[in-house]
Amino acid sequence: MPETDYATNFSPEMLEPVNSVLEQVLSCEAAPFYREKYAGAVKAGVRDYAAFTEIPLLEKAELLRRNWRERLYIPEEEISHFSISSGTAAAGSHLVTPQASYETENLFRYYLSDQAFGGKPVKRIMLLLSPMTSFAPRMIKASRPGLIMISGDVRNMKTSALIARETEADGLATFSGALHKFLDACDSLGITLPNLRWISLGAEYTSQLQYDYFRAKLPSAVFRFRGGAAEIGGNRYYKCPSLSDRPDTFHLMHHTHLAELLDPVSGRPCVPGQEGEITHTDLARKASPLIRYRTGDLGVIEKRACPCGENIILYLKGRMGFDNFRYGGIVFSVEMISSALGKAAPAGFALKPDFRLHIYEVSEGGRPRPRLELHLIPELNAGPSFDGAGAARLSKLIAENLYLSPSSSVADMEREGGIRSFEVRLVDAFEADTIKARKIIPHF
Ligand SMILES: [Zn+2]
Repeated sequence: MPETDYATNFSPEMLEPVNSVLEQVLSCEAAPFYREKYAGAVKAGVRDYAAFTEIPLLEKAELLRRNWRERLYIPEEEISHFSISSGTAAAGSHLVTPQASYETENLFRYYLSDQAFGGKPVKRIMLLLSPMTSFAPRMIKASRPGLIMISGDVRNMKTSALIARETEADGLATFSGALHKFLDACDSLGITLPNLRWISLGAEYTSQLQYDYFRAKLPSAVFRFRGGAAEIGGNRYYKCPSLSDRPDTFHLMHHTHLAELLDPVSGRPCVPGQEGEITHTDLARKASPLIRYRTGDLGVIEKRACPCGENIILYLKGRMGFDNFRYGGIVFSVEMISSALGKAAPAGFALKPDFRLHIYEVSEGGRPRPRLELHLIPELNAGPSFDGAGAARLSKLIAENLYLSPSSSVADMEREGGIRSFEVRLVDAFEADTIKARKIIPHF
């Protein structure tokens, strides 16, 4: 099958940069990572897509096991910054990756061009981002004459709202969880921001319901979505104006990366229209190049003509890894759920260790909030512990021990309104999933 029949943006022009990156990582004396991983089985000189797909896949866990110096392929003096992947709430899952540049070219091309502002350039952009993201310094570096960057504070939304009003911010670079809180702060202070007309959203999934809510709150704003991951060096997906009506639909930046969609179980290339895991290969000689890296994000590639001239469209399917999912500023992680389930046995509940967390969106007054259902299977002969009050007691026990942020449990979030409701359901078996082993299932 030629590469055109697969869900990838591969083109023969990518072979030269692919081979150049292979040459870089295989010849570098100082960094053993790829040489040891491939153990002589991979050589530069790949001639076609079929040969490329013979290169072993790269997992995040492999990178986490090695110090960044062991995967540094340029002199240390040339590092400009470390990107830090946000990981989950669990310690030790943050991946630190050295980067050689802030890649401001992509920002100019896709996010700070006049077209990205809907044809009307904005003048004052507030950065309302996580302090650990490298997107904020990248935006500052990419700023051009006449464009002013304003610091916001995601931990102090009321002050951020007041500063946005005082500075007459007309742009906001943020993520959907922060935008909800920012708009709440504006409402509680009676602040309206008539100047705000460009909103850049990234870092976490924005559902259609959230997007509709934001558009209703800010009817004159243009929304621009960023897509990508910290460890791959930032944003790799962009939207042309024709794709602006859906938050999960993107084009790929072909000049910086080769994307493949692979069946998450078999690792085999998907065909267009088939859901698979997005796999990333750098096409530039970066500080720590990634080759066939499994991003943990699910998507579908369709090959059809877009009015902008592009022929490949990527639909993100929840931007979901197997172990965590971000929504509305909350991290749902397999590790934290498993840890909460660990409290069940000592309390007398005999359960199988597996689970499925179903996340539904409920709209109240137009504002979406998550409703959670945790499906669990009791052990055979589990006894009377699950009768009547027992199930309610189990729900309460897990809600109090399941942390969705370092400081807030499900029970806290239910009280504070961040979560609509949480419920444990005991089932005989799990429903079949489209992708095996998916434990956290968003229904939007
Ligand atoms: Zn397009």
